[in-house]
This record gives sequence, C-alpha cells and structure tokens, in this order.
Amino acid sequence: IKNIAVLTSGGDAPGMNACIRAVVRTGIYNGINMFGVLQGYQGLINNNISHMDARSVSNIIHLGGTVLKTARCLEFKTDEGMELAYKNLQAHDIDALVVIGGDGTFTGAKRFGEKFGIRIIGVPGTIDNDLYGSDFTLGYDTAINTVIEAVDKIRDTADSHDRLFFIEVMGRDSGCIALRSAISCGAEAVLLPEKETSLNELITKLETGASTKKSSSIVIVSEGHKDGGAYEVAKKVKERFNHYDTKVTILGHLQRGGSPSSFDRILGSRLGFAAINELLKGNTMLMVGLRGNDVKTTSIEEALTKHTFKLESDLLEMTKVLSI
Ligand code: ADP
Repeated sequence: IKNIAVLTSGGDAPGMNACIRAVVRTGIYNGINMFGVLQGYQGLINNNISHMDARSVSNIIHLGGTVLKTARCLEFKTDEGMELAYKNLQAHDIDALVVIGGDGTFTGAKRFGEKFGIRIIGVPGTIDNDLYGSDFTLGYDTAINTVIEAVDKIRDTADSHDRLFFIEVMGRDSGCIALRSAISCGAEAVLLPEKETSLNELITKLETGASTKKSSSIVIVSEGHKDGGAYEVAKKVKERFNHYDTKVTILGHLQRGGSPSSFDRILGSRLGFAAINELLKGNTMLMVGLRGNDVKTTSIEEALTKHTFKLESDLLEMTKVLSI
C-alpha cells in the first residue's frame, strides 16, 4: 500500500477530527502518501481529493464537526456514481480508504469495496452509538456531555418554578444517548425506542414523585420513541396529570456539535491509528472499534447486520431504582 485516502460521511460527530489527524499522521509516519476527500462519497465522485501532510491536520484535535466536511450523497448509491468514484481514486493511484461514519457509510463502503476490490477500513463515527462491534462510537460521549450540560440548566428553571420538563434527545432508533443522559441527570423517567413504557406507568411515577414532594421533574424522551416525540408525550400526559406546569425542550442539533470530550479525542486517536495499522497488515473490510478497553476489529458486514439492543441492563434497572 502506497496511497491511502480518508473521508468522513453521513452525520458529523465530535471526535472525527481527532480521528482524521491520527489517520493522516499514522500513515505518514509509516511512509504512506495520505489524501483527504472532501464531503464524503460526494467528494470521491467530484474528485475533491487532495494530498495531506502532517501539518494539514494541525490544531484540529479539539474541534467538533469534521474539517473534511461530510455529505449525504445519493449518487453514490448508483452504479454510475460508484464507477466515477473509483475512476477518481485510480487517477490518484489510491489503493485504500479509511471511512469514518455510521451505518449508511458502512453500507456504501461494503458495496464499493466488494465491487472494485479496494481496501477499506471503517471507523464508527456517529453520536447514536448504533453499530455492533464497538461499545462506543465516536461522538457519543461528547453528545451525552452536551445533553447533560443543557439538562442541568433546564433543571435550575424547572426547580424554581415547580415544572415538569419533557426533554427530547437524539439517537434515531437508538436509546443510548437518552439512557445515559437520564442516569447522568437524575431524570425522573426516560422513554426509549427499545422499550415500551405505558403512559399509565409514566403517570403513576410522576404522581408518586409529586406526592413525595418532588418539586420538579425531568423526563428524557428519545427522538425515536414509539409513542411520539416530547411534544406528543407531553400533550398526552398533560391531559391526565396537572401537578406541575408542563414544558417541552427539543435539544436538536446542538447535540452534534462542540469540542470533543477527552474520551472522544482518545477514541478518535486510537481508532484512526488502528485503522492504518489494519491496512498495513493487509486487512480490509473491517471496522475498528472499542470493546472493553481494547481496540478490536469486526467485519463491516457484522457491524451492519448484528446490531441489536445496546442498552446496559444495570443502567436500565437504575432508571427505576434511583428515581424514587
Ligand atoms: P450515516 O453514515 O451517518 O449512517 P447516511 O445514512 O446518510 O449516514 O449514509 C452516508 C452515505 O453513505 C450516504 O449519503 C450515501 O452516500 C452512502 N450510502 C448509504 N447507503 C448506501 C447504499 N446502500 N449504497 C451505497 N452508498 C450508500
């Protein structure tokens, strides 16, 4: 392997820059020519590919977002798009790719790698933590920290006014951000996509809280919750529970930004370093991830197909016990 390119694709996540830096510098350290692709797969199609040196990744480890930009690219799903992308890689003599992104990115990588035989290593970069093979994905820890900071602020006002707040957090169909945020913020309840929580159960809990002199309550609602988002749930609860004034906050995209936590900087660095080392060993079609406190590989195929319920059982149990 002489020339390797790196790209970020799909939703951006804090820690991607730390990972890009590690990929570029580990490659250069090992005598590889490194390239950066702007705007994910769109950049491969548009030939937005440029040479990177060690200084191209200076002063980025602390930045959120991705300096390589990212994009959702429909054209890459077509054979014509993939062929254009491959031609552009060939023109630069690039023989391997590191792709940082989520399940969509990996689905594209799998098809592309199988079609053209190009070597690919994936790094799980998404705040949703919804891939098999890594306990944590890049950006997940920072997103939780961002949620916590916001919820703590909301709690101040909730408590001063005796209010009930429904706070909606991101995660698509994964409740990972919601569950960890709920534990970290001492929320009264959490509504997760993976688990059915009946309205009756929630109202009973809120009634108990009110009767035992809780002055305010925070309910974390995952955006993928089956009974609807925070607005819908708040509306239904309001019809039957009126101890507090009820408010809704949707945290939205602020959860995707911000300076990465130490955890995400280290994770990005470890996974970027590992991605290049896997390519140097001759491996391909693997995702590098963190399991326990070790970097481990999983086939991209498995990362995509084996994903299931990823919520820690003790945390789930604690949402009941610690909120009494
Ligand atoms: P994420 O990687 O965060 O899940 P997306 O789902 O938007 O984000 O996927 C990122 C990109 O991966 C898409 O914009 C598209 O270019 C590519 N991609 C997704 N699915 C496929 C597919 N079936 N075939 C080829 N490329 C795909």
